[in-house]
Amino acid sequence: GAVPGSANLKQVKLERESELRIEVSEEPLRLRVVNGTAEIFGSELPPEIWRTFPPRMKFAVFTWYGATIEMDGVTETDYTADETPMVSYINVHAILDARRRFAKASTSNDPESSQGPRVIVVGPTDSGKSTLTKMLLSWAAKQGWRPTFVDLDVGQGSITIPGSIAAAPIEMPLDPVEGFPLDMALVYYYGHASPNMNVELYKALVKELAQVLEKQFVGNPESRAAGMVINTMGWIEGIGYELLLHAIDTFNASVVLVLGQEKLFSRLKDVLRSKSNVDVVKLHKSGGVVARVKEVRKRSRNFKIQEYFYGLSKELSPYANTSSFSDLQVFRIGGGPQAPKSALPAGSTSVSNPLRVTPVNIDDRDLLHSVLAVSYAEEPDQIISSNVSGFVYVTEVNVQKKKITYLAPSPGTLPSKLLVAGSLAWLESV
Ligand code: ATP
Repeated sequence: GAVPGSANLKQVKLERESELRIEVSEEPLRLRVVNGTAEIFGSELPPEIWRTFPPRMKFAVFTWYGATIEMDGVTETDYTADETPMVSYINVHAILDARRRFAKASTSNDPESSQGPRVIVVGPTDSGKSTLTKMLLSWAAKQGWRPTFVDLDVGQGSITIPGSIAAAPIEMPLDPVEGFPLDMALVYYYGHASPNMNVELYKALVKELAQVLEKQFVGNPESRAAGMVINTMGWIEGIGYELLLHAIDTFNASVVLVLGQEKLFSRLKDVLRSKSNVDVVKLHKSGGVVARVKEVRKRSRNFKIQEYFYGLSKELSPYANTSSFSDLQVFRIGGGPQAPKSALPAGSTSVSNPLRVTPVNIDDRDLLHSVLAVSYAEEPDQIISSNVSGFVYVTEVNVQKKKITYLAPSPGTLPSKLLVAGSLAWLESV
């Protein structure tokens, strides 16, 4: 009910195992727990403290034992739901927790028994994959584990800007507003919003990421025992399905959580039957998951890029730098010029090499408004096998003066002069 003294203050009493589902309007919303305990996607809210949630955010405040929530602001919608799949989700967590403890207790150096669960979350778009991933990571971190989060979704990535695949150790429950921390992330830049644009490159980067993590696990038994939680994209037909199998195989997943689709579950169960060490588990989708149409997805990609440079609520100011064309080198991967037919063996048709790294002319008008990754590679031929330090956004290309101006999240010269272009552009709306 309404709280006297403020037109927009509202208290909601939640019974045990129920949740308050909220869609924030175009104005931010303040919220706090006044009684009991409650969590947002696995991360407990501290009592009494007001938090501000940004416009358009969609989330649920869930309570295991009952709570009273206070909201200050006008929401797009808010309602209480007492039917949720949360009990089945926490049961999965309990099983993963037992496996982590087993792995940690393993005295042998046997790579099998000292390896914690490698969980991969799959399902169609809008089945709540990212949300379940967040819960599993936050619950694990709350119990002191440092699981590795792996994000393979180039369309709606959670760690950094779209077009990337990335991994990061999760040291504490995720902040319900800020989400995943970027500072310790290992990021590979694919450059496109769909794996369809260059399937071979996508696979190559997934493989690179998996190999690096594998090496890190060797020297870090704690993180090896904590295992990983991998979030995937919602494309589950045709090549999308093959890419799921590729990810399961490449990361050596031991638990496949299938959200909200019977068909995908039975297909995966069938093909993975021969692998006795892989469990395929079916889970219900939450009725609270909010579906997003194509336009909304595109807009959320744009916001994600804006967030990278300007912060979640435009609290950061990026640095504008100008460099001479000669100080930077820009490359594109795949689709480069095709070999002339005369250069190929008789009878073969010319094909472009999807993994070919080709230089781009910096005066190329296409570079204006594009997002470029700053590679850690020292030589162009190391670009595919190298992760990136971050991104810049090209705001001006001056052909006469041979200068390029770009925004970067931090000041000073870039850590490397090798930049990677993709097909992602961003029209700044700030
Ligand atoms: P995609 O295929 O696009 O990656 P997804 O399957 O990962 O989507 P989520 O991102 O987890 O889906 O969920 C979609 C939206 O629904 C998100 O904004 C999320 O915060 C919201 N959401 C998920 N669960 C709930 C809930 N129980 N109550 C309210 N909102 C929710």
